[in-house]
Amino acid sequence: MSLKKTYRNISFRIVIIYAVTSLLWFLFSDTLFQYFPDGNTTADIKSYIFIALSALLLLYLMKQLWSAQNDLLLKEYEDDLTGLQNRSSLQTTLSDFISNKEKFHLLFIDFDRFKMINDLYGHESGDSVLIQVSNRLRTNQYIKPQDVVARWVADEFIILLKNRTDDEIAIFIDDVFSDSAVPLQIYGKEIINSISIGSVQYPHDSTVASELLRFAEIAAEEAKKSVGSTHVPYRKHLSDLANRELYLEEGLKDALENNELLLNFQPQILTNTQEIIGLESLIRWKHDDQFISPGEFIPIAEKSGLIIKIGDFVLRETCKQIPIIEEVINKELLFSVNVSARQFYQMDYIARTKEILEETNIHPSKIVLEITESIIMEYTDFVIESLQELKDLGFQIAIDDFGTGYSSFKYLELLPVNMIKIDQSFTQSIHNVRTKAIVQSIISLGHNLKLKILAEGVENVLQVNCLKELDCHYLQGYFFSKPLSVENLLIEYKK
Ligand code: C2E
Ligand code: CA
Ligand code: CA
Repeated sequence: MSLKKTYRNISFRIVIIYAVTSLLWFLFSDTLFQYFPDGNTTADIKSYIFIALSALLLLYLMKQLWSAQNDLLLKEYEDDLTGLQNRSSLQTTLSDFISNKEKFHLLFIDFDRFKMINDLYGHESGDSVLIQVSNRLRTNQYIKPQDVVARWVADEFIILLKNRTDDEIAIFIDDVFSDSAVPLQIYGKEIINSISIGSVQYPHDSTVASELLRFAEIAAEEAKKSVGSTHVPYRKHLSDLANRELYLEEGLKDALENNELLLNFQPQILTNTQEIIGLESLIRWKHDDQFISPGEFIPIAEKSGLIIKIGDFVLRETCKQIPIIEEVINKELLFSVNVSARQFYQMDYIARTKEILEETNIHPSKIVLEITESIIMEYTDFVIESLQELKDLGFQIAIDDFGTGYSSFKYLELLPVNMIKIDQSFTQSIHNVRTKAIVQSIISLGHNLKLKILAEGVENVLQVNCLKELDCHYLQGYFFSKPLSVENLLIEYKK
């Protein structure tokens, strides 16, 4: 109910109750006072009592009005779901802080992969997670009464911390991160989700509220690029980066329609014979006459959700090329495609993948889906089920960039995967004794679990020999071939 309506309601009640009381008084006061001797004193007492009663009634109604007004005011400034200050209230407080020239830090807190929780477990679970997160922030031991904890939008929170040193801010953030390592509960299931924090300082970074908010958000976006909970303080160059991202995101929206996306294929080699056994599809984007690296635009596609369409395109295009390539090369090959986390967590990912293969008439056993360690580690139950379903359909599964994430060997045993791809950073420093020992362990682990092992990023003959000695099944890298366009691939490998 709005404040205006409440006022009208209560005023109406005052008038009615007052009228009824006066009428009753008029009708019955004489009966009440019949035993009193008539006269001026009695008349006076009567009017005093009437005035006192009216005043009491009025007071009672005023009190009601005040509390209703307070409730409404609170509601106007409170976020319905979490009870924290809401967006408009935060904006007011921020302006107040600035006009009072109070020194403060503004922290933009973004919950990583919240969308996935909503997609996977539904909105009610999402809400429950938000409530748990906001309670943790509100009750943090370092929050003081003069600080502000607010919900900005969806899974984004803003905290204003007054008069703190950088060290104190670092301690606070460390504490928020250790809180976030404690699992959240969703209907009996436990999930751990990392947090990204961007921070700005008033007046150091800006004296304008809207800029402070934007800069903190840009810093949080930067923090989100790192694995795990991360804090990034705002620096000016981050704004230039954000503008570039915006430019790429705009371009990416039309890239598919404008035929700006295409695939390259990089050969995968059997270590012993050095014959080609497979190809990895790697996407390329030509925009405004220059190639933009997937390392730069894939994260943007993931963030904006465009990766879902792009992922379908990569799979469909790969499938379409399979019969052409195999005919020219005159050999049966495996075809690897990269699957990003955002794609994999879509509810209909498996159904759509299946559909694309049926549509292009390709058997799933020809496709290796490359997923990264970070996908596996987050929602392991869901991932194991999905991978099993994919495997039952005939797909092969590879763990990409192995060794760079947090793979736990315990999970490796549970996961229905066929192949481990050792990350190129290991290959490239395999001359180092310690790195060689790590690679050796990964390879023997793979052998014990009956998994195929491929080493990526092989660039020279020393690496080839070393990996051969360690009994690595397959190799991939510039030493054998760079990723090639279909035309060049067919020329290079024509039989
Ligand atoms: P990735 O899956 O680890 O792919 C291997 C990357 O290493 C490719 O970079 C490849 O060109 C490069 N590479 C191969 N051999 C060598 C070598 O000997 N030395 C060096 N220095 N590099 C080598 P690219 O094509 O730039 O792709 C980068 C990343 O972008 C990929 O890493 C993958 O994570 C992602 N990506 C590429 N295409 C797709 C795609 O279609 N979908 C998704 N989701 N991600 C993709
Ligand atoms: Ca890959
Ligand atoms: Ca890789």
